Amino acid sequence: FELINHDVIKPIYLEVDKIWHLACPGSPIHYQLNPIKTAKTSFLGTHNMLGLARKNKARIFLASSSEIYGDPLMHPQPEDYKGNVNNIGIRSCYNEGKRIAETLCFDYKRIHGSEIRVARIFNTYGPRMLLDDGRVISNFIVQALRGNPIIIYGDGSQTRSFCYVKDLINGIYKFMNSDISGPLNLGSSIECTILELAKQITKKINPKLELLFKPLPDDDPKRRNPDIRRAKEILDWEPSVQLSDGIDYTISYFRNLLI
Ligand code: UDP
Repeated sequence: FELINHDVIKPIYLEVDKIWHLACPGSPIHYQLNPIKTAKTSFLGTHNMLGLARKNKARIFLASSSEIYGDPLMHPQPEDYKGNVNNIGIRSCYNEGKRIAETLCFDYKRIHGSEIRVARIFNTYGPRMLLDDGRVISNFIVQALRGNPIIIYGDGSQTRSFCYVKDLINGIYKFMNSDISGPLNLGSSIECTILELAKQITKKINPKLELLFKPLPDDDPKRRNPDIRRAKEILDWEPSVQLSDGIDYTISYFRNLLI
């Protein structure tokens, strides 16, 4: 096993038989820090990885995102929904980046016969997230363990559907070894509001914690919920870890980390 620390924006020549292309920060606060770099990572990075795959005749997995649906107007979102995306907003570097990354994959397939596997990953969480990841489940858990108020953006009525990391990895693995190109939604079909999530986490850690409401960032999707029928039918895959159990595993991880 060899670990090479390399920026996918620059080309690289290696002998490989499979490429798992997950490069790009996924947390809004992180991908918005340097949005031009985020867009370059998705476009140039994916272009370089597709070139590498082509040279090696290697299969390539692309970690695309539910963000390609933008602020969806259709619920749940099936793979053939085209989305409702702002192309000039603060999330555009990521959602338009993932859209062009998907476009590149399908053009490589059409033109060069590349073996692509394009997954649209919905909100995922679990142990080994960074303390300062910035996404909602790790934020709420870390705030609660530190005895700080729980910061909710907006009124908390927006929804997400959370998939435990182990389930997601299992889905990615099955998809890579299948014979379909996708795009394929991977995520949990169980939707919950951010306010419900905050209550669930504080109940487990400290029910007396204050919930603090702050303004909702621009273009924050109001509802997000994948239609995962395709993954169920083709891969015989669906998440098995309940949100409450997954939150427990994640709390123990952060509790140990903070000790
Ligand atoms: N959110 C929140 N408090 C936080 C972090 C996020 O209320 O500390 C909200 C955020 O505004 C969004 C939802 O939780 O509506 C999910 O945010 P996250 O950053 O996890 O991922 P997103 O699905 O927006 O990419």
